[in-house]
Amino acid sequence: MLRILLLLLTTLALRADDKADLLRNMDTGAAHYGDVSRQIWNFAETGFKETKSAALLRSELKAAGFTLAENVGGMPTAFTATWGHGQPVIGIMGEYDALPGLSQDVATERKPLAAGAPGHACGHNLLGAASLFAAIEVRRWMERNKIPGTLRYYGTPAEEGGGGKIYMIRAGAFKDVDVVLTWHPADNNASNLGSSLAMISGAFRFYGKASHAAIAPEKGRSALDGLMIMTTAVEFLREHTPDFTRIHYVVTNGGAASNIVPEYAELQLTARNPSMPVLDDIWERIQKCAQAGALASETRMEMEVSSSYWNELPNDALGALLDRNLRRVGGFTYSPEEQAFAEKLPGIAADLSSHEQIQPPMRETGLASSDAGDVSWVVPTGTFGTATFVPGIQPHTWQAAACAGSGIGRKGMVVAAKTLALSAMDLFTDPAQVAAAKASFEKRRAGYQYLSHIPANKAPIAH
Ligand SMILES: [Zn+2]
Ligand SMILES: [Zn+2]
Repeated sequence: MLRILLLLLTTLALRADDKADLLRNMDTGAAHYGDVSRQIWNFAETGFKETKSAALLRSELKAAGFTLAENVGGMPTAFTATWGHGQPVIGIMGEYDALPGLSQDVATERKPLAAGAPGHACGHNLLGAASLFAAIEVRRWMERNKIPGTLRYYGTPAEEGGGGKIYMIRAGAFKDVDVVLTWHPADNNASNLGSSLAMISGAFRFYGKASHAAIAPEKGRSALDGLMIMTTAVEFLREHTPDFTRIHYVVTNGGAASNIVPEYAELQLTARNPSMPVLDDIWERIQKCAQAGALASETRMEMEVSSSYWNELPNDALGALLDRNLRRVGGFTYSPEEQAFAEKLPGIAADLSSHEQIQPPMRETGLASSDAGDVSWVVPTGTFGTATFVPGIQPHTWQAAACAGSGIGRKGMVVAAKTLALSAMDLFTDPAQVAAAKASFEKRRAGYQYLSHIPANKAPIAH
């Protein structure tokens, strides 16, 4: 008994030292991975076109001894990199796609690096690089200490609308993994016990009959009429939808000329709600609005789902684990130059110090949607955010793109990488943590069945 206790104490003491060693190693390695993030920031490639970004991440992982699986799910910029063998299998996800039109220099006013070009306004250059940094450091620690288990980096393309992770799920890439960890750039440091909005996006296509709008209007049937009756019905529907529902749309084809009765019209519509089953009901009702438009205008309507993300399923055990490790890592301070940069950036919060602390775990439902949500329904997934953006700066803005290329972004990225690494160490050495993550997962998803709304025969395409 005493021997077992002594052994246990030695193991725990070793583990505490291991964590301190790893954090020190990561301080030394930070500049290199900061440079990787900066290169991806410069590449600024949009979804499914992240050729150079994915190649850079793959080459780093290959050099560190990981085994690559490329072209996962038929997507050239999707890959996995695996090291080790046996149980448990712990995954760390990375993203690296940019956003169209948001090219921006590290500057405090709007200053594109190239007019109209993409930019990293969601900070995915940091997301991919921090996850890479964590994976390589954890792999070194596993080898040094002969830790059993399998570590896998998931290179997940096209988060911004393309849903790369959904096609990776379909390809079976998550079948054998026990726990997945990920993070997202934010304007504060907090583990995430909240959710996101489930989302369905589709094209509504109306087919009518062309005719001369002045000579023979009675012979025409306007596809645009069908579309407009649909949107009118959707506006009336909006009043009778549950709280936090979002419905937004654009007309992508409204006909060719006003003197021709439009024979074709197309609407792209996105609907969101915190719950996928509730959203399913709303989506049915939106389709009725579309059918009403077709009926009234004597046109034909076809609907095609183009994209759909599930809301994130929070994992209580992993949220708590990430919170503990995030607190151990702690926040960071700005240099005088970074402080001056932050103060001049439009849109900042009144309190510019929140990056120095760790906030309580976030429990609200975020109003965005992500394909990380889909992963969270098929495998226990833990997620958190770090303050890569100056407090008050929201993603998808030029200010966020500026932060993602700055020293502030890189400091937040190191906090993320360290938190991921410490949490992976806990999962590899403490089976109770993996069991707790699985129990939280089963409890939260009980009564639901995950099925992506993206048609099974649909190929991954950029949006
Ligand atoms: Zn985004
Ligand atoms: Zn994002």
